[in-house]
Amino acid sequence: MKQYYLSVIKFPLMVSSSLFIIALVFFSVALGSYFRLGLSAWETVIYTVIFILLVLLVASWILNLISTHNPIKPRRLALYSKWMLVHVYYYLALFMASITMQKKQKLQESFVNFNNEVVLSQARDVSHKNILLLLPHCLQNSECKIRITADINDCESCGKCDIAAIKKMAAKYNVKAAVATGGSLARKIIKDLVPDVIVAVACHRDLNEGIRDAWRFSTYGVLNERPNGPCFETTVNLKTIEFAIRKFQ
Ligand code: SF4
Repeated sequence: MKQYYLSVIKFPLMVSSSLFIIALVFFSVALGSYFRLGLSAWETVIYTVIFILLVLLVASWILNLISTHNPIKPRRLALYSKWMLVHVYYYLALFMASITMQKKQKLQESFVNFNNEVVLSQARDVSHKNILLLLPHCLQNSECKIRITADINDCESCGKCDIAAIKKMAAKYNVKAAVATGGSLARKIIKDLVPDVIVAVACHRDLNEGIRDAWRFSTYGVLNERPNGPCFETTVNLKTIEFAIRKFQ
């Protein structure tokens, strides 16, 4: 639990620190200019515009932090907050992680966990009918003769990989489950099914890209486990998937 908490706070910590540094630089430069020579008319305009942008940046970040505990009700505001998260704060966190020499994978994991908190908060007290379980192709046993693309029901449930258990779970909770062999197919599946919520399983990189790519959708990310190395016969914690489905139903 403590480890999960530490993993969740890494991303917001990186974003908050970078905002603090940006504000510090801004005020140092602006106040330095003011006390040295005074501000000319155009400098006043420029500093005012930058100040307003800075206030917006900080306010939107506070909105994001609030959204991990309280759902944002106006849909447009929730979308704006999500847009800022994936298009602005994600890069600020990456920048901060790179200058503080943090491992990129740890930050990606934290981003997934932070996003999950937002998605769970937004879905609170709402029952979703159209849940999509989106799985990576590498979950499938490499010797399986069946090529499972899109429809998980093609699996013959031999039990050699986690697909069989996920198929059973999908039937139990009556949710759609699909296997995507890449980003393009994942996009097509999402476009065709237009789910209320996506429970996506993937590695750090793919999950980060997927969540950001489908930012208009609520995507709950589940990191896969890679006992045989990347992209080969991966596994997933089935309890985490079940937890997510039950939360959204
Ligand atoms: S459980 Fe399904 S997908 Fe996995 S190896 Fe068996 S038939 Fe293939």
